[in-house]
This record gives sequence, C-alpha cells and structure tokens, in this order.
Amino acid sequence: MPSSPSKQHYCVFGNPIKHSLSPEIHAQFAKQFGLEITYRKILAPIEGFADSVAGFVVDGGAGFNITVPFKLEARQIATELTERAKIAGAVNTIKVAGEELLGENTDGLGLVNDLCNNLRLDLTDKTILVLGAGGAARGILLPLLQQNPARILISNRTASKAIELAKIFAPYGKTCGFGLEKIKGEPVNVIINATSAALDNTMPVINGAVARDAVCYELMYGIQTPFMSWAQKHNATLVTDGLGMLVEQAACSFEFWTGQKPETRAVLANLRTKLTQTAN
Ligand code: NDP
Repeated sequence: MPSSPSKQHYCVFGNPIKHSLSPEIHAQFAKQFGLEITYRKILAPIEGFADSVAGFVVDGGAGFNITVPFKLEARQIATELTERAKIAGAVNTIKVAGEELLGENTDGLGLVNDLCNNLRLDLTDKTILVLGAGGAARGILLPLLQQNPARILISNRTASKAIELAKIFAPYGKTCGFGLEKIKGEPVNVIINATSAALDNTMPVINGAVARDAVCYELMYGIQTPFMSWAQKHNATLVTDGLGMLVEQAACSFEFWTGQKPETRAVLANLRTKLTQTAN
C-alpha cells in the first residue's frame, strides 16, 4: 500500500460502507494543509472487523474511522481510550501510535460544533430531548451535557435503554430517561433524532406538540426524513439534517490524527451542493 514514506494512510470501516462521504471530506481537509494522504472505504465482514483492522495497521495505516455496526467493537480493540470515548462506550476514531490504538469518539463534538458554531445556538439552560438510546445517543450525550443545558430528556422505544443511559450520564448533568409514549406536549428547546428510524423511512411516534418552536435536528443526512417533515408540520423553528455533524466529526477526527484543525464551512457547503444536485 505505501507509495511514499511521507504519505499517511487512513480509512473508514463499516458494513455497509458504499454510501460513506468520508473519503471526500478528508481529501478536502488534507488539501487545506497540503498534506498527502489516502483515505478509503473498507467494507469489513460483520464477523471480521478486528482482522480487517489488523490488516490495515500491518500495512502502515495511520488512523481510521469506524461506523455502523462496529463502534462498540472498536472500543474493545482500542488499547487506550480518551475520557470521552470511555464514557460514551463507543469509538468512531482510532489513531495508530506504534503498538497502541488510541480510541476517541468525535460524534458528540461534531454535533455540538454544528449546533453551536454553524447554527449559532446557545444550549445553556435549554431543555434538550434526545430520541433514541443507541450508539449515536451514547456518543452525543456527554458533549451536549458539557454545554450546560437545563436538562436532557432521553426517550427511546425500548424505555429501559433510555433509563439506563440517563443513569450513566447523570453525574455530568441533569438527565431523565423514559419511553416514547411518555412524551407529552410540553415544549422543549431542541429535539435531536438519534434513532435509526429514517433507515426504514419512518420516525418514532410521538406527540407533535413537543416540536412547537423547537430546533429539530436529524442525525441522518442527505435526505428529507419523516422526522424532518414531522418537525416542519409541527412548527419547529429550525429543522436540519446531520450533514453538518458528519463534517464536524470528521474535522475532529482529522485533528486527532494530524494535529491540524481544518476549516469546515466550505467543505460542508460543497457537500450540500453535491447532495442537492444528486437528489434533483
Ligand atoms: P443504533 O442501532 O445503535 O440505535 C438505533 C436507535 O434507534 C435505538 O435507540 C432504537 O430503539 C431506535 N429505533 C430504531 N428504529 C426505530 C423506530 N422505527 N422507532 C423508534 N425508534 C427506533 O444506531 P446508531 O445510534 O448508531 O445510529 C442512529 C442514527 O444516527 C443513524 O441514522 C445514523 O446514520 C445516525 N448517525 C449520524 C451521524 C452523523 O455524523 N450525522 C453519526 C452517527 C450516527 P430501540 O432501542 O428500541 O431498538
């Protein structure tokens, strides 16, 4: 694989992986610093993630991203974890440092950067409703709590998982976990859809009144999802998909690997234009 000793090699492991925009994002970041890198998509077999990683590392890989469904397994193979990754219990970025595999989770930082820098929201003292209690929800809760919201309500189809997450994150701020059926019409400031319901072209069935005047953020990106249509119908003030989070989490990964902090605005704008052109 290595063509030049100075060229660094990166990749993203997932299954499926065809849809990933990460190679394009990282190529644009590298260009900003005149860095020569390669970044490719690797389809790891469901039972073969660790072997795929081992092959990439032996070939001189400098770092990699991990997406669905390997983020929990990535936590297991990491030899060291950042505090954030430890608390999230999931890893989406690994840096290879000699024999060590340093695990980080940049999903939550990416979301917060998109909300606070790109969308210019202030989360201080706000009530945030997070739908879902899977890997993505785990990754975003700590960075969200670090913005000092009034409270985070975690609501999930399987209530027990929401209750468990609320307990895990309670030391870092006010959290409350419950089933989707318990969502009433009480207003909240921000609703984050961290479920994977959009993959089935659906959304959690919840009381529409909760979206009035709220910012509604869909983690899925590139398509108009049922959650986004629902939020528009129920008078949300701002409705967005998760493309900004995707670019921002990638920027945090890039910085974790290279020490260089890329500019994200133009990259996000380019991707948005491309996705809009593809959709039309
Ligand atoms: P997981 O499989 O870990 O969790 C899925 C969650 O969605 C669970 O809480 C599950 O509930 C819930 N769910 C699934 N289907 C439904 C439904 N029909 N109605 C209600 N709840 C449902 O997935 P992830 O957490 O890893 O991913 C969630 C989403 O976030 C995905 O769409 C992913 O693409 C997106 N994502 C986006 C990122 C970005 O950069 N923009 C980064 C990371 C993720 P239950 O527990 O009851 O099964």
